[in-house]
Amino acid sequence: MKFKRSEELYKEGLVHLVGAVNSPVRAFTSVGGNPLFIKKGHGSKITDVDGNEYIDLVLSYGPMILGHRHRKVRRGVAKALRSGYSFGASTENEIILAKIVCDAFPGMDKVRFVNSGTEAVISGVRLARSFTGKDKIIKFAGCYHGHQDSLLVAAGSGLATLSLPGSKGVPEGAVKNTLIATYNDLESVKVHFEEHDDIAGVIIEPICGNMGVVIPQNKFLVELKEYLKSKGALLIADEVMTGFRSKFGGAQELLGVEADITCLGKVIGGGFPVGAYGARNEIMEEVAPLGGMYQAGTLSGNPIAMAGGISTLTELKRQNPYDQFNDTAATIETILLETAKKYNVDLVVNRFGSMMNPFFTKGKVTNFEEAQTSDIKKFAIFFWAMIKNGVFLPPSQFEAWFLSSAISKRDIKKIAVAVDKAMLAVSK
Ligand code: PLP
Repeated sequence: MKFKRSEELYKEGLVHLVGAVNSPVRAFTSVGGNPLFIKKGHGSKITDVDGNEYIDLVLSYGPMILGHRHRKVRRGVAKALRSGYSFGASTENEIILAKIVCDAFPGMDKVRFVNSGTEAVISGVRLARSFTGKDKIIKFAGCYHGHQDSLLVAAGSGLATLSLPGSKGVPEGAVKNTLIATYNDLESVKVHFEEHDDIAGVIIEPICGNMGVVIPQNKFLVELKEYLKSKGALLIADEVMTGFRSKFGGAQELLGVEADITCLGKVIGGGFPVGAYGARNEIMEEVAPLGGMYQAGTLSGNPIAMAGGISTLTELKRQNPYDQFNDTAATIETILLETAKKYNVDLVVNRFGSMMNPFFTKGKVTNFEEAQTSDIKKFAIFFWAMIKNGVFLPPSQFEAWFLSSAISKRDIKKIAVAVDKAMLAVSK
């Protein structure tokens, strides 16, 4: 497999782009080598600029749940393009998408569209503070909530990949109201409530994908919600990754928990820039123009992005691929575990619905500390062997793999062959 054109573009890209990427998770820092440049995608696959084809398990870090360039999404977006790109005024499609979203999440009476997951979380946190009149927010180590100043501390995703404890350029004052707890450990939340009486709420990835996939154990989320209610604090579900992916109604539907505030992104735009936050009426009435919490956006509710979201979610609801996702993920898990056993490689696989990934470690992985026991050198070997055998993975141990409904039985056979070669390489 040749990567000549990618290498040339990488060198060219370094001149005017930082690291030749527009998001650090796309750099190959932790696996070595140069990032690949992608030319096109179709269905379950993408093709790079050298003509190499891959089964795509990155899927733009989640949004492409129907696979690439789905016919119905293309049609919906093409129709919107014919009417104009942006007006700075309301359009009917915003109402249509809002209804789809609010119907899917019973805890959301109203929603506000923004342009990214980061914006959704910035606004969701501001809303929690506005509604409760309190300042402090608890977050869990290893969860990633976008790149807002106050939540980059102890974050997963690219920060975990680059081993950064937080970000330079964040003033001390920006994190003074952020408290850190341990995922799957309610006691670590309670300790903060014993010490502080100004906690607005807790933000959580209800199924975490940003330290690799880490699953809420037992009744962790249900108990967390009950505890927060008893304290008059809000549960902010960051479902940017899990919304419409774990189930149509997100992780909340799957786990039987209703958050006070929900943040969405990724799948909601089907590959176009859409984020959203929403809650029941009494909370959303805080938001301008109804209330005093200000939040705005020139391109928010963008007509093209709304059309992408409507077409994606409508088709997703029709396909209802969630059982199929479970079966496919279970099959890939078995392939990974049996092949690891064959080559004597220590491996743990975490999966939930259409999100999964292996950790090269012995013990179970239930929080960030345990995730970090994974041997990232082995991951790097595995990653490159998978690439060279036609499977595109996130270039980091601490990112989830995603499934699309376009994945076929043939793709899975190809994944099995690649895993065999990759595990052999790891075992050497
Ligand atoms: N929240 C979660 C759980 C995410 O996974 C991400 C992105 O990966 C974000 C927020 C930020 O979303 P965006 O990258 O669209 O700003």
